[in-house]
Amino acid sequence: MIIPYLPLGRIAAMHADRLNAAALRVIQSGRYLQGESTRTFERHYARYIGTPFCISTGNGYDALWLIFNALLQTGRLKESDQVLVSGHTFIASVLAISDNRLRPILVDARPDTLQIDEKQLQRELTPHTRALLLVHLYGRCAYTEGIKHFCREHNLLLIEDNAQAQGGRYTLPGEQREAAPRTGSLGHAAAHSFYPGKNLGALGDAGAVTTHDEALAGAIRAISNYGMTRKYVCHYRGRNSRMDELQAAMLDVKLRSLDADNARRRTIAQRYIHQIAHPILYIPPDDGTHVYHIFPVLCPERDSLQQHLAAHGIETLIHYPIPIHRQRCCKGMFDDNLPVASRIAAQELSLPCHPAMTDEEVDAVIGTVNSF
Ligand SMILES: *Cc1c(COP(=O)(O)O)cnc(C)c1O
Repeated sequence: MIIPYLPLGRIAAMHADRLNAAALRVIQSGRYLQGESTRTFERHYARYIGTPFCISTGNGYDALWLIFNALLQTGRLKESDQVLVSGHTFIASVLAISDNRLRPILVDARPDTLQIDEKQLQRELTPHTRALLLVHLYGRCAYTEGIKHFCREHNLLLIEDNAQAQGGRYTLPGEQREAAPRTGSLGHAAAHSFYPGKNLGALGDAGAVTTHDEALAGAIRAISNYGMTRKYVCHYRGRNSRMDELQAAMLDVKLRSLDADNARRRTIAQRYIHQIAHPILYIPPDDGTHVYHIFPVLCPERDSLQQHLAAHGIETLIHYPIPIHRQRCCKGMFDDNLPVASRIAAQELSLPCHPAMTDEEVDAVIGTVNSF
């Protein structure tokens, strides 16, 4: 038996009839950009996340880039302002800051949650700190009361990278989960990626920004379409980053089962948490808000564990093998003083966890990890 890490074809097959029908409708409509499908998806996704505005974009990186660029072009940030961000994230989070000539300041991660260590924020603060980019890495909500108060106290813009956590929520202890706000609605603006492998994945590239801020939404919509506020009236320095009608139609179909898909991911994760019993593995705690885009374990013998699983037909991935501050493209940008981020990069292994996974596959992963 081969257990694939993420069989996108099997996941698409769960929605095959509705995807086929929706694709056919777009093809026959004769309208392939900026039409009914993107407008409908934007409306549905904004309602789902809980923000008044949603702007669809070409991909998740562009969504992040557009937020920072719009903040610059509307005068709320200026060149070389500093943006705090976890040192343990996907490179896109950091590039979206530096590509706008803002300065990313890497803050080390926590060894238990694998996310930004709020106790280290104060130390990185300078008179030029203007924003915090909060990455809900692996699908776990990284927002805390501490982060909220820190941003308020220091007047920082709070931007969310929600690429990995569609459908996640921020719950306070004792609060009803169903009533809690969603990730993507917690700060000034949030970027979402619909890369095919994400929890809400398109059949190609797509992304979106959600925000409560009408002026920012207007600037982002214009900048994503050549800076035009009206046809051929270019108020901003713009670029082209638009979502295809076809992708919007696919996403609108898949959005309807996102909560059910995430519930299945959580069920699988709970089994891993309770039944994986290997003494040298660390499994991060589940606080109930996780949507398990990725199920990470830490193992000091990570490479042998990965080989052991591969020998039994189980595919795994590493998110991410080289920390940002040691990437060649970041040479000279950061000090090598992020011990936790470096350790996670050396020890992390991602186990298969997706809505099309069968109970037999989950059994096999648990049994094989425990026999390591
Ligand atoms: C996937 C991802 C992105 C970028 O999304 P794309 O759609 O691939 O451009 C940004 N940040 C994080 C944390 C991601 O996982």
